[in-house]
Amino acid sequence: MKELVIVSGKGGTGKTSLTAAFAALATDHVVSDCDVDAPNLHLLLAPKVEKTEDFIASKVASINPELCTECYACKESCRFDAISEELIIDTILCEGCGVCKLVCPVEAVKLEDALSGHIYASETEYCPMAHALLFPGEANSGKLVSRVRQLAKDIAKEKKKELLLVDGPPGIACATIATISGASAGVVVVEPTIPAIHDMERALQLFAHFKIPVMVVINKFDLNLQKTKGIEAYCAEQGVEVVGHIPFDDMMTEAVVAGKPAVIFAPQHTLSKALKDAWASIEERLEQYPSQ
Ligand code: SF4
Ligand code: SF4
Repeated sequence: MKELVIVSGKGGTGKTSLTAAFAALATDHVVSDCDVDAPNLHLLLAPKVEKTEDFIASKVASINPELCTECYACKESCRFDAISEELIIDTILCEGCGVCKLVCPVEAVKLEDALSGHIYASETEYCPMAHALLFPGEANSGKLVSRVRQLAKDIAKEKKKELLLVDGPPGIACATIATISGASAGVVVVEPTIPAIHDMERALQLFAHFKIPVMVVINKFDLNLQKTKGIEAYCAEQGVEVVGHIPFDDMMTEAVVAGKPAVIFAPQHTLSKALKDAWASIEERLEQYPSQ
């Protein structure tokens, strides 16, 4: 099986719209949405959830008032200031460190699993899908990304699929590293704007660091042809191939509003043709990379 990760240095480059189009064009594959902080691939692929798992990433403390002698040792020891004057634990501030439980002389404190999100195994019109949702304010998205990737691999194994297509999170933080490490290849989606180009460079460095082959697709390339040339020149210098030039067109937004991948919404459109060409180039290069 091969794993292709699609990332962008920054959000808003159209990465998810491109991933949805590739998911509709690919064959023999599973797709996963690893942008767990703000997932939106489901809006374009309309998955039907078949299995839901809880994601437990931390612990949270609680006090049993019937056992508590109001000695305040826990409140004085909590360096996250999570325990109120009324000896009530704020579940948002509590980091689950367990100090309050350790210092309590009467075992009135209990540490319990905290539900941080959900992980879903689903089916779409195009392929099986693994995705997740981290609750607002919850950390540990890197850990959740690893769980979603593992679920996607398990589904691919069970259903004997040859390709895992991953929509990665934006940026190059922990969750992105958790997404790309160990992948067969990557695609960086960039648009011709100064911040997007800067972030593309950082994303390419990340792939180089992990020694993962990477390609670039320029989205909305015709919005600034000079900057598009700059991207091409930079990629050539780095030995990275630009495998797609996607034009700007309102059709992409219309497809998003309709909740469909662009190549399904308007298959004969010039934009869809560019997406199909880009996917054909990516598939061709993927054949050269070893399976995992
Ligand atoms: S578990 Fe740690 S953070 Fe939470 S209330 Fe106890 S001491 Fe404070
Ligand atoms: S340390 Fe135990 S007994 Fe003392 S206030 Fe906290 S919960 Fe109550």
